[in-house]
This record gives sequence, structure tokens and C-alpha cells, in this order.
Amino acid sequence: MKYYSTRDTAVSLDAAQAVKQGLSRDGGLLTPTEFPKLSEMDLNAMLPMTYQQRAAVIMGLYLPDYSAKELLAFAEKAYGPARFDTSAVAPVRTLDEATHCLELWHGPTSAFKDLALQMLPQLLSAALKKTGETRTACILAATSGDTGKAAMEGFADVEQTKILVFYPKDGVSAVQEAQMVTQRGENVGVCSVVGNFDDTQSGVKRIFSDEALRTELDRRGYFFSSANSINWGRILPQVVYYISTYCDLVRDEKLKMGEKINFCVPTGNFGDILAGYYAKKMGLPVGRLICASNKNDVLTEFLTTGTYDRNRVFYNTMSPSMDILISSNLERLLFDLGGRDGEKVRDYMDQLAMSGSYRVDDAILAQIRELFWAGSSGEEATAAAIARTYKDCGYLIDTHTAVAADVMAQYRAATGDSTPTVFVSTASPFKFCDSVLKAIGETPKGKGVDLIDQLQYVTGRPAPWRLAALREKERRFNLSRKKEEMPEVVRTFLK
Ligand SMILES: *Cc1c(COP(=O)(O)O)cnc(C)c1O
Repeated sequence: MKYYSTRDTAVSLDAAQAVKQGLSRDGGLLTPTEFPKLSEMDLNAMLPMTYQQRAAVIMGLYLPDYSAKELLAFAEKAYGPARFDTSAVAPVRTLDEATHCLELWHGPTSAFKDLALQMLPQLLSAALKKTGETRTACILAATSGDTGKAAMEGFADVEQTKILVFYPKDGVSAVQEAQMVTQRGENVGVCSVVGNFDDTQSGVKRIFSDEALRTELDRRGYFFSSANSINWGRILPQVVYYISTYCDLVRDEKLKMGEKINFCVPTGNFGDILAGYYAKKMGLPVGRLICASNKNDVLTEFLTTGTYDRNRVFYNTMSPSMDILISSNLERLLFDLGGRDGEKVRDYMDQLAMSGSYRVDDAILAQIRELFWAGSSGEEATAAAIARTYKDCGYLIDTHTAVAADVMAQYRAATGDSTPTVFVSTASPFKFCDSVLKAIGETPKGKGVDLIDQLQYVTGRPAPWRLAALREKERRFNLSRKKEEMPEVVRTFLK
């Protein structure tokens, strides 16, 4: 099992190198050369296992340079009781016979990114040892809220790493900001940037490509790395929960072994749903993958017409983690469906960079139509989905999950498909109290972290304890800088 680039199949890296490097030098994404198949027997063998054991087995198929013992130890640590508030780790909640919800927010930051970002630091830290790296990895991240916090929580006090997160000063929710500026750990840093997410993100990209800064830091024993979902070490742990969900449903006799299920996934960067595609490719009985977008519907258009066009208005929505116009991980799908032709992918990506759009060939589009269905949910429809799910099922969901709930309903109405369907819940509703309160007909009283109490009170549901405890936590970081000052922040951080 080796890793090659979506833009050059002559590249050949071991798993540990791929994790350490994050991105291929040619700008492509590192992708496994093979996708091992899971038989019914393999799935049956996983039924009695814990989530941690399943994770070690599945990840082991892709990481031959990590031992089974090592991977199990990583999984026990990543998903153990000190970090996750339920022993099921990723519990499946059944709403009716054919509708289930996969809850991915029981980790330390109450968003699904924990499933990957509790694992990636351990894979990376081991990769440094395996490749004889003596420098310290400096993880730089630009965040619109969830990634930054989840990455800091995962990398806090991990040996031979430091992590610095930039977020747009007025572009994250109050709870998200409180989570970041109270982060523990000796190796973490946080800085807000005057401007929006694009300013922040382009600032980080500029630092990554600043050769002079790179050389200077190399001399001081550092190299840059990324915690974004372009890293294979983030995608792989996500493949696990699709397979684990299937095993849970069969184990609990809600599904027969071999029977198909659909997944409906709230999508931004296309990392989560791509992991679902890989699970299907490995042989998991998956019917349709339903791609749910918010008002930023670039993916809906692409998956239905074959034309990707980022030249459109960008909307700030109540599901900010999906406010995105360039879905990086789509590149891995195109590579796979286009016959693993690096030239073709490079050509599409060049067109995207030059003109902001490209159109895939008919052969790729035909496969996309077979595998996926796509829909988008506007702001009102998203709020209505929160209200409806709460009223009809007594189940409280966040704004991102609501996009999936709405698009799942659209899919059923449009196709009449009655295949059992799992919609993926990516964040706790207590991270987005303001929008959730309004959606269920309440008037938010107060601001920010105070609304957690109100939402607990009116719904009688407990907030994740770490969120509830935020108010008592001391603010550790107060740094705010202009975009032009970001390189200086890095220099100071790595003094
Ligand atoms: C990141 C995120 C998403 C989007 O996931 P992608 O892998 O980027 O498609 C959806 N919901 C929440 C809450 C997120 O944090």
C-alpha cells in the first residue's frame, strides 16, 4: 500500500510520509493506491467490537507502517472516556424504522472534526519518529470555527508539535470563540485577524508559500504542516464511522447484513462525504450518498450538472462550517472516477484556478449521478427542519445537521426511495444556540455563552459539559492582528 498524488501517479510515498507531508509537492492530494475490500465476513467479525477496535482494524488496512498494537493504542486514547462523553463514541440514534441519525459530536469540542483531529496528531507524531524527523512540526490553521478548536484540542501538548490558529475576528460564533481563547496546552497559540474568513485563509496560504520564512524556520528546527482535511490522516478516521454505523445497525437488528443504506451528509469541503464514498468503494452496502449543501450550493450544481463554478455570491449562513466555495476534497473523487488520471485532474484544477470553473467529462458525470444525489437548503428551510425534528421526534439538532435533515426529506420526496437512511449530525446544537433557539420559536435572551443555559432550560436537554463549563474558564489568549502582521505572529510564536 503506497500513496500517490491526484496530479501525478508517479509519486510513491509510504503512509507515514503521506501523513507527515499532508499535501503532495505538485499541489495534488495524497491518496492510497488501493482500496482494500471488506467482505460480509469481515463486517460480521467487527459486529461485537468496540468503536476503538473497529478503528484499529480499518485504519490498519491503509497504514502498513503502523502496527496493530500502535493503532489500537491511538484509538483508545483518541476515543476514550477522557475525551468522548459516550462509550459508543459515534452513537446511532433511531428516529423511525427507516431513519437514523449518526451523532458525531460527543468529542471534546462538540463537532464531528474531533473524530479525525483526535487521531491525526497521534498519527503525525508517530510519523515523525518513523521518518527520522528531528524538526518540530508547526501546524498552521485558518478556521471558521470548528477546525481550529478541534485541531488545538487534538494537538495540545503533543510532543514535537506546535499549533497556531488564526480566526476571523467577527466570523465565528460566540461559543466557538470562547472555546478557542480558553484552550489549554503549552504548545498552542491563537490569534484573531481583522477581516473575514477569506482574508484569514489567504493569509495562512501566503505564509505556507513564503520561502524566506520557511528557510528561516527550518534553520530554527521547524517545518510547517497542515491539519486541514486534505491530509489523508484526517480522511481515514472518518471512513471508520460509516462502517461502524453499519455494524451497529446490523448488531442491533435494525438492518440485515447485506441490506443497503443511504447516507445524507452536510457538506462543505467534501471530506466527510468522501470518506463515505471510500467506505462504499471498500464494499460497504451503501445505496446513495446524499450531499447536502446550505445556500452556498456550488456542490449541488456540480453533482447534478457536471459543471463546477465558483463564480457566485458567497453567503454567510447559520451553518458557517459549510460556507465554502472551493471544496478541496472533490479532487480525490475526480481522480478516482476519472480512471486515476493525474493529467486530467491537473487540467480541471488549472481551469478552476484560472477561470473559477471547469466541466467534467460525461463518463465522470454518469458515475456521479449513479453514486450521489445532491440538494441544498436555504436559511428558512434549515430553521424549519430544526423546528420539525424537534416537534415531531423530540430531537434537537444543530443548524448543519438540519441542512442534512431537510435535504434528506427533499431526496425522499423527489425519488420515492425508501431505503433506510442515516443522516449525519456534525455538531451539537449547543454550539449554535442563537439560531437553534430562534428556530424553535424562542427569543434569545442575552448573548454568547449565556444562551447555553437558556437552550438547556427551554428544551430540558443537557449541554455537553465542556460547553457548559466555558463560562468559568479563564481567557488565555487576547491577540488580534491585521492580515499583514500574520507572518510576524508566526515568528514570535516560534521564538
Ligand atoms: C466541517 C463541518 C462540516 C463540513 O464537513 P466537510 O468534511 O468539510 O464537508 C459540516 N458540519 C460541521 C459542523 C462542520 O464542522
